[in-house]
Amino acid sequence: MSADNLSINLATVRAQWTLPQAVEACARMGIRAVDPWRDQVAACGLDTAMRAIRDADLAVTGYCRGGTFTAPDAAGRQAAIDDNKRAIDEAAALGAECLVLVVGGLPQSSRDIGAARAMVRDGLAALLPYAREAKIPLAIEPLHPMYAGDRACVNTLAQALDLCDQLGDGAGVAIDTYHVWWDPELETQIARAGRDKRILAYHICDWLIPTRDLLLDRGMPGDGVIDLARIGAWIAAAGYGAFTEIEIFSRLDWWTRPGEEVLSTCIERFEAI
Ligand code: ZN
Repeated sequence: MSADNLSINLATVRAQWTLPQAVEACARMGIRAVDPWRDQVAACGLDTAMRAIRDADLAVTGYCRGGTFTAPDAAGRQAAIDDNKRAIDEAAALGAECLVLVVGGLPQSSRDIGAARAMVRDGLAALLPYAREAKIPLAIEPLHPMYAGDRACVNTLAQALDLCDQLGDGAGVAIDTYHVWWDPELETQIARAGRDKRILAYHICDWLIPTRDLLLDRGMPGDGVIDLARIGAWIAAAGYGAFTEIEIFSRLDWWTRPGEEVLSTCIERFEAI
């Protein structure tokens, strides 16, 4: 694997740098693509973010993130759709390949995960025409089931692909090893995603043992138990040849180190896979 195909999800260095600083550092270190977050763009302003990315001549492999389609009432669900439309506009302005979606967990005081999943489907269907018009594909990211309650009630690649089947053109998946590595159906579902041309993004990081924080203790590739070479081979066999994105949230480790050290380790580990 060559570092030419490496993208850095800018959450990986969010503690060290602003968006313009992170973009400049990535370009200086030979990285050719990034995936910025909405709060990072909001912090510097959309125009500044656009200019920084354009000046550094970087591809934008995704925009993190939209979603959160679940809400206790119709007004809340409509507000989510409106906010997702703004995220699509920003993604288009930044030249992003897709909008990454974390679809939302259970609405407040609900125990009905089936209803939450129906809200996600309805929200996606309502948003899709706008996304198609803007030519920003919607990348549904299935999250590990430990987040089903509070972040995303779409938890397997099969479930995300079933949604894509219902939605049609303009919907696809972001496959993140942290969330799906454990799935006994992973190989067959990656092949299915490739066949259906649904793979919009591929995110990697590692699963640490022990994991000390369920949200913010993701491992650098190579430090945990995920067979990234094997999964990467399935992704390649499925026909996905675009960028692989390293995405690490690491409050206790990588966010405490100098940004250059984080990026050079990302490059090293990526080349080693
Ligand atoms: Zn991800």
